[in-house]
Amino acid sequence: MSSPDPFERHDHAACRERALAQAEATCEGRLTPMRRRVLELLLESHVALGAYDVLQRLQAEGHRAQPPVAYRALDFLVTHGLAHKIERLNAFIACHRPDACEAPAFLICRACHRVAETASAPRRGALARDARALGFEIEQTVIEAQGLCPGCRTP
Ligand SMILES: [Zn+2]
Ligand SMILES: [Zn+2]
Repeated sequence: MSSPDPFERHDHAACRERALAQAEATCEGRLTPMRRRVLELLLESHVALGAYDVLQRLQAEGHRAQPPVAYRALDFLVTHGLAHKIERLNAFIACHRPDACEAPAFLICRACHRVAETASAPRRGALARDARALGFEIEQTVIEAQGLCPGCRTP
């Protein structure tokens, strides 16, 4: 796994810069100032942010952003693989490896809401086998595991 371990202390500034550079490369000019700002907000930490949190942050910065503006920016980021929606938290995280992100799975800390992205292997394993046996073609799987990160496990 080339992405940083979000549960460990790490050089997050470098982590954020790399993700932003990758996003610029992926989007070539379509990263408008608003989309970029929303991505930066998501990249401030590895904690998932709800759409409402994002909106509040924008408004606190003096953007007169209405909800649709924040939602559309998030939608763009998700559609282009720069961010992921965490269904369980109804919140978003930035993708830390948009160039090599396929079938992500998420490890969600239920205490601090930090999320680690890892790769699932949807074409292998029991689920894929059962689907094949049923003649079912899987187009998308959402794998979200909830638990406690190392920091939240130690009292
Ligand atoms: Zn980081
Ligand atoms: Zn935690």
